[in-house]
Amino acid sequence: MHEIDEREILKVLGELKAKRVLIQTPEGLKHEAQFLADFLEENGIEAIISGDINYGACDPADREAKALGCDALIHLGHSYMKLNLEVPTLFVPAFAKVDVLPALEKNLDEIKKLGRKIALVTTAQHIHQLERAREFLENGGFEVLVGDGDGRVSWRGQVIGCNFTAAKVDADGVLFIGAGYFHPVGVALAVRKPTLAVNPYSRDAIWMNEEAEWIIRKRWAQIAKAYDVEKFGVVVSTKKGQLRLGEARRIIKLLREHGKYARLIAMNHISYPALEGFDFDAYVVVACPRVPIDDVENWRKPVLTPPEVELLLGLREDYEFDEIFG
Ligand code: SF4
Repeated sequence: MHEIDEREILKVLGELKAKRVLIQTPEGLKHEAQFLADFLEENGIEAIISGDINYGACDPADREAKALGCDALIHLGHSYMKLNLEVPTLFVPAFAKVDVLPALEKNLDEIKKLGRKIALVTTAQHIHQLERAREFLENGGFEVLVGDGDGRVSWRGQVIGCNFTAAKVDADGVLFIGAGYFHPVGVALAVRKPTLAVNPYSRDAIWMNEEAEWIIRKRWAQIAKAYDVEKFGVVVSTKKGQLRLGEARRIIKLLREHGKYARLIAMNHISYPALEGFDFDAYVVVACPRVPIDDVENWRKPVLTPPEVELLLGLREDYEFDEIFG
């Protein structure tokens, strides 16, 4: 269950004098989106729900809202991301109602294995409980560090799937509070320190480092498959918060300097089947780092991230997780 403040949304829409809005939602908030649409219509605002799946604040449907003649976009489930948007946009994070303290209490012995000085991070869903969690842990004798994060995140201690800067502090290990797999494994990949994920719903605690090492082994296998490749497709996303044209051009330049053929491809939704038919032997995805890592099994050809290209070309030695910085 999540908390969404419909009255606050209505108030802001009133200030904007909005008559028609588009509501964009991630998979897990479809019921809340429908409820919000009903509530807004009862209050005189025409509400259209976007049926496209949304994965992050990086992909606001502002262009679609404009095309539909909407005065505003309501983007549910994610915190604010600084982007150049075409209509006024309300980023409405949904805060989970679950209490995080019982899960911390249950797993204190595991948490102690991180060391005395721990970094504490979470996702937007639980960020409103971060201070309570910090106090609880400090009362338990830990020194708790909450990193600022960079401009891509909205709160201290917040991580998103492509940005783990809040976890990069001088701690012995990282405690992640939240559900799901990609965020804590991303922390472990990005920080390379002992990382424990405590799930406030199941109250389980899982160490993420073995999983991270397993992913790194699989990534090295992708790099090895690309060693003799001559023709690379370098793919950028047209989603506003994933668009890294400068980085893509840098990768193309590097590949060409090393005698490879490289061509830039732009896509909205990046998936391998849409690339079938082009004459490339491997791809570099310069977009959401989850695409080449989560979906690797769906790619018939090697698919790399920008830091992996640097490894391939012998320009770096240590594995580095691809992040988008703000
Ligand atoms: Fe999430 Fe990927 Fe967007 Fe980052 S780029 S916010 S990980 S969907």
